[in-house]
Amino acid sequence: MDNAAIADNFALLAKLMDIHGENPFKSKTYAVAAFNIEKLPVSLQDTPREKLFNIKGIGESVGRKVIEMLDTGRLDILDEIISKTPTGVIEMLNIKGLGPKKINTIWKEMGIESIGELLYACNENRLTLFKGFGEKTQKNVQESIEFYFQHQGHFLYAQLDEVFPQIDNYLKKIFSPEKVHVTGRYRRQELTIDELEFVILEQNETIKPKFQTAQPPELVEETASSLLFKLRNGLKLRLYTGGNSMPEELFKSTGSPEFLEAFRKAYPSLKYSSEENGNDEAVFRAVALPYILPCLRESAIIIEKAKQDKLPELIQVADIRSIIHSHSNWSDGSNTIEEMATESIKRGYEYLVISDHSQTAFYANGLKEDRIREQQRYIDELNTKLAPFRIFKSIESDILNDGSLDYPDHILKTFDLVIASVHSNLGMPEEKANARLIKAIENPYTTILGHMTGRLLLSRSGYPVDHKKIIDACVNNQVVIELNAHPRRLDIDWKWIEYALEKGVLLSIDPDAHALDGFDDVKYGVLAAQKGGLTKQKNLSSFSLREFEEFLRHQKEK
Ligand SMILES: [Zn+2]
Ligand SMILES: [Zn+2]
Repeated sequence: MDNAAIADNFALLAKLMDIHGENPFKSKTYAVAAFNIEKLPVSLQDTPREKLFNIKGIGESVGRKVIEMLDTGRLDILDEIISKTPTGVIEMLNIKGLGPKKINTIWKEMGIESIGELLYACNENRLTLFKGFGEKTQKNVQESIEFYFQHQGHFLYAQLDEVFPQIDNYLKKIFSPEKVHVTGRYRRQELTIDELEFVILEQNETIKPKFQTAQPPELVEETASSLLFKLRNGLKLRLYTGGNSMPEELFKSTGSPEFLEAFRKAYPSLKYSSEENGNDEAVFRAVALPYILPCLRESAIIIEKAKQDKLPELIQVADIRSIIHSHSNWSDGSNTIEEMATESIKRGYEYLVISDHSQTAFYANGLKEDRIREQQRYIDELNTKLAPFRIFKSIESDILNDGSLDYPDHILKTFDLVIASVHSNLGMPEEKANARLIKAIENPYTTILGHMTGRLLLSRSGYPVDHKKIIDACVNNQVVIELNAHPRRLDIDWKWIEYALEKGVLLSIDPDAHALDGFDDVKYGVLAAQKGGLTKQKNLSSFSLREFEEFLRHQKEK
C-alpha cells in the first residue's frame, strides 16, 4: 500500500467520523495524518517499522494504524464505520460544497440517505429549514448534484491514459493486433471521455464469448455493428464491429459528427478500399488530401485548411523547453526549489519559473513581502550554483475582487515575471469576470494570465467570460495566455486557441506543478494544445533560455 492510499484511508476515516458526529479531536488527528502522509518524501512501505513512530505527524495511534494497513491492506476501524454508513451518504462526499458537517445534518436531521433524495429536497426548498443551509447554499448544492449526475461515468483524458494500455493490450491479445484499433473521442484527444471506443474487425458472435471471464463486463447495448460494455469502474467500452476495412471503420468512427458530415459533402463519391490495412491514411490519400491528424478532426474548417495545404505543424511534448508556473514548498508545493530545479535539469529543461502563491492565498501559505525578499535571495544563490540553468523569480499573484494584483508596484517589479490568476470569489457573473480580468491584464506587471476561467473539468464549470474580449485585451497589453496543463484544468480551452493565434497572442503550456510529478502534466497540455492547432513558435514554454530572456526584456519595456 503506498502513501497516497494510506492518506486516502485516513482522510476518508476522518470525514466519516465527522459525518457520524464523533469526537472532533479524534477525527482531526486522522485528517492531519492524511495531510502529512501525502506530503511525506519517504515511502512508509520502505520505512523500518520502528522508525515509523519518529516521523513528524505520526503518533502512537496513527502509527499503529499505518502498520495495520501495511500488514493487511485494510483498516478495521474504517471498514467498520463504512458498514455503518449508507452508501448514498458516503457518495454525498462527491458533491462539491458538501462537507462532513453538512452531510451529518442532511442524514441525521433531515433523514436523507441518497443524492437523489437530496436533489428532490432542494427542489422542494426543504434544506432552508435547517441551520447552516441558507437559500444560497441550497442552490449551490442543487447545482452541484445536477453537475455530478451529468458527469457520472465521465473520465478525464489523463485518467484513461493510465488504463488505456492495459485495455488496448488485452483486446489485441484476445483478437489480433491488426484487427483492433482505438478510435473516437480518445483518439481525438478529447479532454473528458465517457466511452472508450475501439474498432474490432470481428462479428458480435465471435466477440461476446471472449468477454465471458470471471468478472465479465456488463453488456448494455447491442446493434448489428456495435457492442457497448460497462466495465466495473463505470467506464463504458464501445466496440464498432462487423466491418471488414480498418481504414473505413476507423475513419468513420474517429471524426466528430460535424467533421464527418463536411467530409461526406466535400467527397460524396469517396470509395473505401477493403485492401488497405493500418490506420486511415488511405482514406485521405484516396481524395488527395494531406493526412488530417485525428485530434484535428473536430470542425469542418480543417478540411478547407487541408485542401489549401495549411495544416498547422503541431507542437510536440519534446518542443517544451521549460517549466513555467510551478510551486515550491515556500507556498503549497511539496518540493524545495532546488529539487524542482534539479528535476528540470534531469528532464532536459533549460529553465524553471517558480511562481508560488501570493499573500492573499493564506490557505496556500502565500508569500508576504519579507518572504518574497528571502526567496529571491535564495534563488540568486541557486542560480550561481546551478548555472547555466536558470530559475526565474515569479509569483502567481491573486487577481483580487476589484481586478488589482496582490502587491504594491515596488514588490511587483522585483519579479522577472508575474502570473495573474483568479482563486477566490469565483461565483461571479460574466460582466464582473470580464472587468476583473481585463483590469488585471492591463496591469503593466502582468506577464501571463493564469487559468483563464478557473474551471475544473468534471467538477466545476468555472466563471463565465467573454473569451474574445479577454483575448483581445491580452493582445493589446502583450499578455501571454496560459494553457494550464493540469489535466483537470486545460484552461484556456483549446477551442479558443485558433482565435488567439489569429489575433497574434502568445500562449504558454504550463503544468502548474505542485510537486516533481506535476511536470508530467505537460503532456496533457500539449495534447489539448494540438487540438487547437498550436505550434511551438507560438508557445512561450518552447522558447529557449535566450529567447525567453529576450522576451522578458521586451516585457519590462511595456
Ligand atoms: Zn492557480
Ligand atoms: Zn498555480
